Amino acid sequence: MKQLAASIAVIAALGAMPVQPAHAQKEEIVQDGIAVKPLSRVRVIVPEEQLNEAAAQQYQEMMAQAQQKGALVPPTDPRVKRLRNVAQRLIPHTPRWNASARDWQWQVNLVDQPQVNAFCMPGGRIGFFTGIVDQLKLTDDEMAAIMGHEIAHALREHGRERMAKSGITSVVARGAGALGAAIFGIDPGITNTVTGMIGQGVVLKFSRDEEREADLVGLDIAARAGYDPRAGIALWRKMAMLNKGAPPEFLSTHPGGETRIRDMERHMNVLLPLYARSKGTTVNRLPAYRTNVALR
Ligand SMILES: [Zn+2]
Repeated sequence: MKQLAASIAVIAALGAMPVQPAHAQKEEIVQDGIAVKPLSRVRVIVPEEQLNEAAAQQYQEMMAQAQQKGALVPPTDPRVKRLRNVAQRLIPHTPRWNASARDWQWQVNLVDQPQVNAFCMPGGRIGFFTGIVDQLKLTDDEMAAIMGHEIAHALREHGRERMAKSGITSVVARGAGALGAAIFGIDPGITNTVTGMIGQGVVLKFSRDEEREADLVGLDIAARAGYDPRAGIALWRKMAMLNKGAPPEFLSTHPGGETRIRDMERHMNVLLPLYARSKGTTVNRLPAYRTNVALR
């Protein structure tokens, strides 16, 4: 790439005409991944260090309580190993979206609870529930799609922005209540079961735009890490199948499955080249994505 740029510069310096007509050159510029707006400026009124510290404290507390209940799945469990392996591959692609992610203290844990959900707190603390891993029979690619999505909320600082817009400028972990759940990107239903911290209160959700951004940025990260972005679509189809019964938590906090599938499909032209590149091949040579269940 650099060499090419250098030789173009040399040609330009010599005053030679470009080989290709201008319009052909323009078509060759392929967008490198998902494009996003700059991070919200209002978010900076919430001190980052304080937010990350509070999130860390809340995370420690959640995991300690899970352990007390015997619900913290041990690191020897194959599902924990898979989750940590996925995280290890995704993490190197996070600073592209937020430079401070280089300093995040990443952690990945699996809590034995039936919730069909997962989260990533500011500062990189990730939690999965056995409900989402087992009920959706997640493949590694699908784990990466979910983890990417949750990480993307944290990288794009959706919780911090939401907080800033609600006029909260200081953070404390304890007693943050329902607001805390929204700030940390967790469905209050989950924190209620796991920590008992959240009482009845306002349920703040990420907006549809934030969900859309998390879907696309998450798949961008997954694709760069070598996970098939089409798993995002399979995942939402699985979710819809599961939703035929009672709506699982992830759906109540992550609405609009059909719209989201269409959105992801529309961006495959940008996402698949990233995946193909990570696999050292071309989009045309990629085999179709196959999940492990029959999708309707
Ligand atoms: Zn989300």
